[in-house]
Amino acid sequence: MIGDIILEKKFSLTLLHWYHDNKRPMPWRESRDPYHIWLSEVMLQQTQVATVIPYYTRFIEKYPTIEDLARAEDQDVLKLWEGLGYYRRCHHFLAAIRQVRTHHKGKVPDNSDVFLKLPGVGAYTTAAVMSIAFGQALPVVDGNVIRVMARYYCLGEDSTKASTRKHILEKMSGLIPKESPGDFNQAVMELGARVCLPKNPMCPACPIHETCCAFKADTVIDYPNIPKKNRIPEYLVGLAVIVRGKTFLIQKRPDTGHLAGMWELPGGKTLNNESMEQALQRKCLEELGVHVQIKETLACVSHVYSHFKIRLTVFVCHEDKKTVNALKKQPILWITVDDLGNYPFPSANHKFFPALCSIL
Ligand code: SF4
Repeated sequence: MIGDIILEKKFSLTLLHWYHDNKRPMPWRESRDPYHIWLSEVMLQQTQVATVIPYYTRFIEKYPTIEDLARAEDQDVLKLWEGLGYYRRCHHFLAAIRQVRTHHKGKVPDNSDVFLKLPGVGAYTTAAVMSIAFGQALPVVDGNVIRVMARYYCLGEDSTKASTRKHILEKMSGLIPKESPGDFNQAVMELGARVCLPKNPMCPACPIHETCCAFKADTVIDYPNIPKKNRIPEYLVGLAVIVRGKTFLIQKRPDTGHLAGMWELPGGKTLNNESMEQALQRKCLEELGVHVQIKETLACVSHVYSHFKIRLTVFVCHEDKKTVNALKKQPILWITVDDLGNYPFPSANHKFFPALCSIL
């Protein structure tokens, strides 16, 4: 028992020293503002640090305080998030910030139970913000932490199960020091991101290799235990550039669901044995009440989301008559290519915008 406590203490101190000497500079690490730290944690979910840095910097420049963001227009915030993906994070964060302004006097709650009730806030974000911004000893568990802990303790359980996360949370709870919990959490995540890599971990350079179970047993590659994923489905999507002179039509997606509130070209997924041309003609009729004539193929692009991928084919179309009408109550607009920068579009759309700009 006493031996375990000494080992835990040594683990924490070793990692903290390593982190102190090796941590990468990141703009949010310069800030003590809980709002900034919270934003960085939201942006970093499923996203690489290098990708997040310019988004975070632009966001903080435009909305430096909770008050600034709470007053912003949804479309302007979404436009700033455009390209970062997982747009639900953006909607939730904005809703949570507005609640903070209305119900918490504009201050991020430092009570973990209260913070956890805000929109989009889960156990990970709570632990990260409470530990880094408020110095509370709440351990984080993310993919990097799971990998480090599974290897360090030779934990062979299915790493995707809730019971495994709970087990790792218990391990982290025994290790996290009360004096610097935020640095400790970041140290474990940083080790996972830079040394204890999924493939080719750099064990000889690792500060805790002497006591790492998997390293000593030469079984590092066996951990964590990640069951093989099923192949993700691929959808075929036909999209229409409905042209009127120099303008073309865009429509807004619903305010809930996948890519909520963003703008896109009309069209949709193929059903059964439909071709992409048939799918877009059906969707234009269902949603806009218009028969479109397909003139030519403009572009074909692919895009991968977390749970599916899409293959988009974009067709230049004309209306049979000038009858376009938003039947589904989603706003529509006729814009020129010069207006593209004024509306948030999914990343997949940006892949064919150069082709669109070349014809209009
Ligand atoms: S020794 Fe290797 S496997 Fe163990 S924690 Fe360090 S990098 Fe990961």
